[in-house]
Amino acid sequence: MNTMKCPNCSATMSPSDDPDVTVDVCTGCGGRFFDKGELNEFATGVAGDVEGRSLIWTDVVHTLEHVVPVDKLPQRGCPRCDGEPMKKVGLVTFVGIVFDFCPKCEGFFLDVGEVKSMNRKLKEYSGDGLGDEYRDHHQGLLVRGNMYFGGTTAPPFVFQRGIATTTIETKVYFNRPLDLGLHVYPERWPAKLAKAFGLFGKQDIVTGDAEFDAAFIIQGNDGEKVKKLLSPEVRKAALRFVSTAPQFFSHPGPLQIFDYCVCYTEGPYSGKADIDWQSPAAATIIDDLVSIATAMK
Ligand SMILES: [Zn+2]
Ligand SMILES: [Zn+2]
Repeated sequence: MNTMKCPNCSATMSPSDDPDVTVDVCTGCGGRFFDKGELNEFATGVAGDVEGRSLIWTDVVHTLEHVVPVDKLPQRGCPRCDGEPMKKVGLVTFVGIVFDFCPKCEGFFLDVGEVKSMNRKLKEYSGDGLGDEYRDHHQGLLVRGNMYFGGTTAPPFVFQRGIATTTIETKVYFNRPLDLGLHVYPERWPAKLAKAFGLFGKQDIVTGDAEFDAAFIIQGNDGEKVKKLLSPEVRKAALRFVSTAPQFFSHPGPLQIFDYCVCYTEGPYSGKADIDWQSPAAATIIDDLVSIATAMK
């Protein structure tokens, strides 16, 4: 496939290796190109076809009121289709948010920050106002927040059955899995839970950093590589997370590092909790996890 050039700033766009969808991200301005269907993957807080509804709505308003969504930015050419002129499309019923849409490949271009604005709007739009999920890129890394309600599904260490609970999971994904069989988890975590993950038999790794080794159990296939990866910067960021213990509600949870992500889990809390992914608490947790993940690059 040809290298894509950003329709906003002409810098090269490169694909992000996200677990579910590969989005092309501009190395210059951070704009993103979503192939058909991919924007729906990133839309949270509302179910269904955000892409289709935005297109239909834009057409309806255009026909009835002769209003075309306006954007302060000029018309753009599709990076996928050799500069095919893109059309301005309003997000569902919100004139304030305008995307560039390619009628040929049906892809969308979003400027940096627009996924956040979109999901904030969609959250307001959804009936109960609950944003159960969060997806966005921070410093080029995919961040996903999920809320599990029920207590019997993932994450796997929620064992309560028959009790309604909420567990909150925030993950920052690496662009490429590390392939080290890595699992770093809090020292105080019972070893039997680690066995339940099927990690039994792997070597325990010691970094030589007394504070870090006291706080975490480290497992992986290649001790030397793992030690190198857990650089002083990574250890410092992870220890800072543990000592400042940022939290959504009242009980800090385990920080873990896997081959594919840095993960923070909180809960279970009894009942159904409402998470505001745009809150300062969430921003702190996300920023701190991102700083650990970026230190591992
Ligand atoms: Zn750009
Ligand atoms: Zn196109």
